[in-house]
Amino acid sequence: MMQRVPIDDHAFRQFFDFSPTVALVVDLADGHIVAANAAATTFYGWSHEQLLSMTMSQINTMPPEGMAKLLAHLNQNDSGIFYFQHRLAFGEIVNVESSNTAMLVNGQRLCLVIVHDLTDQKQAEESLSLARRAMDASATGLTIADGRDPDLPLIYANPAFLQMTGYTREEVHGRNCRFLQNDDRNQPELATLRAALQANKPCEVVLRNYRKDGRAFWNEITIAPVFDAAGIITHYIGTQKDISDRKAAEAHVERLAYFDSLTELPNRRLFLDRLANNLALSNRNNAHGVVAVLDLDNFKNLNDAEGSETGDLLLREIAVRLQRCLREGDTASRLNGDEFAILLANLSVDAAAAAQLGRVIVERIGTSIGAPLTLGSIKHQITTSIGAVVFPTGKESPADILQKADTAVHRAKAAGKNTFCYFEPAMQEHVQRRLMMERDLRIAVESGELRMFLQPQVLENGTMVGAEALIRWQHPIRGLVPPLDFIPVAEEASLIVAIGEWICRQACRTVKRLEATHDQLRIAINVSPRQFRTADFSARMAKIMQEVDIKPHQIAMEVTEAVFFDNLSHAVATMNHLKSLGVRWSLDDFGTGYSSLSYLQKLPITELKIDRSFVKDAPTNPNDAAVVEAILAVARQRKLDVVAEGVETVKHVDFLKSRGCRIFQGYYFGRPVPVEEFVAAMETPRIHPPAN
Ligand code: C2E
Ligand code: CA
Ligand code: CA
Repeated sequence: MMQRVPIDDHAFRQFFDFSPTVALVVDLADGHIVAANAAATTFYGWSHEQLLSMTMSQINTMPPEGMAKLLAHLNQNDSGIFYFQHRLAFGEIVNVESSNTAMLVNGQRLCLVIVHDLTDQKQAEESLSLARRAMDASATGLTIADGRDPDLPLIYANPAFLQMTGYTREEVHGRNCRFLQNDDRNQPELATLRAALQANKPCEVVLRNYRKDGRAFWNEITIAPVFDAAGIITHYIGTQKDISDRKAAEAHVERLAYFDSLTELPNRRLFLDRLANNLALSNRNNAHGVVAVLDLDNFKNLNDAEGSETGDLLLREIAVRLQRCLREGDTASRLNGDEFAILLANLSVDAAAAAQLGRVIVERIGTSIGAPLTLGSIKHQITTSIGAVVFPTGKESPADILQKADTAVHRAKAAGKNTFCYFEPAMQEHVQRRLMMERDLRIAVESGELRMFLQPQVLENGTMVGAEALIRWQHPIRGLVPPLDFIPVAEEASLIVAIGEWICRQACRTVKRLEATHDQLRIAINVSPRQFRTADFSARMAKIMQEVDIKPHQIAMEVTEAVFFDNLSHAVATMNHLKSLGVRWSLDDFGTGYSSLSYLQKLPITELKIDRSFVKDAPTNPNDAAVVEAILAVARQRKLDVVAEGVETVKHVDFLKSRGCRIFQGYYFGRPVPVEEFVAAMETPRIHPPAN
């Protein structure tokens, strides 16, 4: 057996000196360091000699009084563990645990101080508590679930989560988060969530969750697994955020993007979307449907007369009626303004049968819209023009289909409103031609291809009392284009306003040029209904006359009855304004329209023009003769002037004269001539005697 040798003092000293633990021996009388081991010099950064010349007060950060107390305490008790902050040689301060063992050695009270650096441990603790405090303070709901338990019970839920869900900490603790779903388990995103859990992957989902009080909210959830060093999942961290407000805002934006806010009907975009879906379906099932565009007749007049609020009421009511007429699967949409569209899906496999059925349904809708309406205190009735198209016919796009229905509705409008019209291919060519002409005409207006011709209006003795301005288009290729070929296009494209102002200015300038010699000469201009209806028509006309500086009584304006139809009060105001300046009003093509004599009472008309279609055969056809005679009788009664148009022969002159007509216009007295020619003739009275 081996003989054990008792360890001596020297050996003990060596344990002290070479122990990896920081150790000091302190004299409790004054706190002087009397021994320090190698670990202490490394830890504090002082040399061995330096340490032995220091007191504990230079190392411990506690104030001198505290230190005195501590030494006194250790003097009485033999040991204790304390937590201090110690200062190192380079000024750094570290947290330490110091265990103190006091003893009497050779009559001296000494203390062995073993020092543990707490820096790492403390930091870990601190960051843990910081994380905890941060989680508690977070505005986002945070949860931690135990990942080792297959049911993933919650072991932590922060206050934000509790507030969001309305549950208490105790109520959520130990439960799987699915309690937030109540019975609403059929949510597609749940599958995403499950798949991610299964694959140990983080995920983000939005779920419909329920508060404790039962109210639903949209919960945006992220869930991430936490792994330990061995790669085993220990926890799941979840963030949960109530995004109901954001969802609501998104839904609102969606509504704005796809629905008309006034009527809440799908807008054009959504209509085209649905049509696209339906088109695909129809192609697959070999089914046919109908798209119809409905354009309310004279809606603008209601709007102008009664205000846009009444107009809005009407549009809403129309929307309600439209929807009432439709089956499920059909779509009604407001395209814009007073234009609606309907999609009748899947009517028949046979195109002709679909067309037939579509027509019946659409006309029923037209009738429903036409039923009397009460708009606030106003009773109103409105008709619709409807254009429709059967689809599919080939490879057309949804936009093409809608375009065709739109073309058809224009045709329906042109055919006198309140009509139904199916699209026909010929219309497309027509539209194409129209578009080209419209483009050319725009250029024409800008590049000065328009010409004004003037045709004299004379008394029976040949004295000229006035002239009618008639427009022509000097087309670079087609030559002189007559007005009936382009005025209707200009009307539709709103170019008529610019053209009308141009002709007015030309007429005024001509009056101005001839002012000195012919200050009673009247030039008549034709005013189109569209132009007449613009809000500031009379103001603009007045401005032109003022700018050219002429007397308005030298201008006559010819209008047809069409301008009174839809808004009599506007017509009266417009005409009265210009009449008050001196402008004469002449009722053109009289006898061809409704010729409602009641208009004549309300309007400041000075003159009737007998349409040339009556003049033409009046000498031989008793019917036409009777119309001419009736017009002349009305005019006499109301003290109106009468101009007979289309006077081509001496027979016309004789007949009209014998019935009391005094003013004539027609080829017999003079054809329309270019303004330059007209002015030249007027300035040379010897060649063309009939002047003032
Ligand atoms: P309107 O106002 O009835 O003009 C009279 C038309 O009868 C003119 O046709 C004129 O050239 C034609 N005419 C005159 N005397 C005779 C005749 O003895 N026999 C025959 N067969 N015809 C005669 P035009 O110049 O082709 O104008 C056609 C229509 O175009 C005009 O009918 C008018 O409605 C419209 N128009 C012409 N100029 C303008 C204009 O500047 N603005 C607007 N808005 N419309 C215009
Ligand atoms: Ca005319
Ligand atoms: Ca006429």
